[in-house]
Amino acid sequence: MTDDRMNWLGVSLTVSAEAAEAVSEVLARFAPAGVAVEATNFTVTPDDHGVPVGDVIVRAYLPADAELEQTRARLEESLWHLGQLLPLPAPVYTPVADQDWSEAWKANFKPLRVGKRLMVIPAWLDPPLAPDDVPIRLDPGMAFGTGTHPTTQLCLCAVERHLRPGQTVIDLGTGSGILAIAAAKLGANRVLAYDIDAEAVRVAQENVAANGVADRVRVTKGSLAELRAKGASASLVLVNILASVIVRLFEEGLADLVEPEGRMVLSGILDSQAYEVHAALQRHGLTLAAQEHLEDWVALIAEKEGKLVDAGRG
Ligand code: SAH
Repeated sequence: MTDDRMNWLGVSLTVSAEAAEAVSEVLARFAPAGVAVEATNFTVTPDDHGVPVGDVIVRAYLPADAELEQTRARLEESLWHLGQLLPLPAPVYTPVADQDWSEAWKANFKPLRVGKRLMVIPAWLDPPLAPDDVPIRLDPGMAFGTGTHPTTQLCLCAVERHLRPGQTVIDLGTGSGILAIAAAKLGANRVLAYDIDAEAVRVAQENVAANGVADRVRVTKGSLAELRAKGASASLVLVNILASVIVRLFEEGLADLVEPEGRMVLSGILDSQAYEVHAALQRHGLTLAAQEHLEDWVALIAEKEGKLVDAGRG
């Protein structure tokens, strides 16, 4: 799992406060994870407030993928154009190794009980288990889904509550594979796990094998389009992505994945975004059966054909 591939290339420029906004805008075009502006110096005002003064550091991370050299050339070209209007220093690049990320979370990742029976366990630990415990052993690497995020916990609880043995499950945006593994261990017959990220697919496949559920869980690179092309459907569909992505996926046929009388768990939704996801699922023939909240997040349980949920509200 730990090799020395680089996953991100840090790029920063130290510029005047006036230039910061323009430089941020340029970096933002190439940095999917956003741009940070840090002060380099503070001064203390007469009423004891520290206020930033002088130059600032504008920092961002470029994905170190196959297109990195192209991205870097385009970024430098954009900065050169901006440099014709404002004096700019050369950007400073700092590679960020895969290991740094995985080692950092390994230090923080402990066995975690979620729901009634699920126990998420780092692959390198072997804690004692109660007879009813359902262990999920995880080595998430760079893939999202260690079990600590509220959106993942909401989904795990929903799987525990809504999964019926023998069901077929679709897990769209599988990340580390955590939900797919939970579904298989709780009795699903077949789980189709999809992710657009190649690293997530690789990690999920390893985790599926390590949990002994490879006979029931198939991990595939792709998304809704690939599932629809195969005519795939399931009686339980899990989608923990983001509200805006879920709304877009509904416009592209997400509801077709749910079999009649099937259920869908929608997560990655902030409380303030529940309304737009609710509206989208209703537009596409589903009804809201339950909502579960954790911290600022909400998971929506939707149903096809309006069949009543027996144990929806906890
Ligand atoms: N299911 C895991 C991971 C959720 S993170 C959990 O519950 O913890 C969301 C995952 O969705 C990421 O791995 C990301 O790569 C993937 N993803 C984002 N957009 C997607 C899309 N349009 N189709 C499929 N997967 C997507």
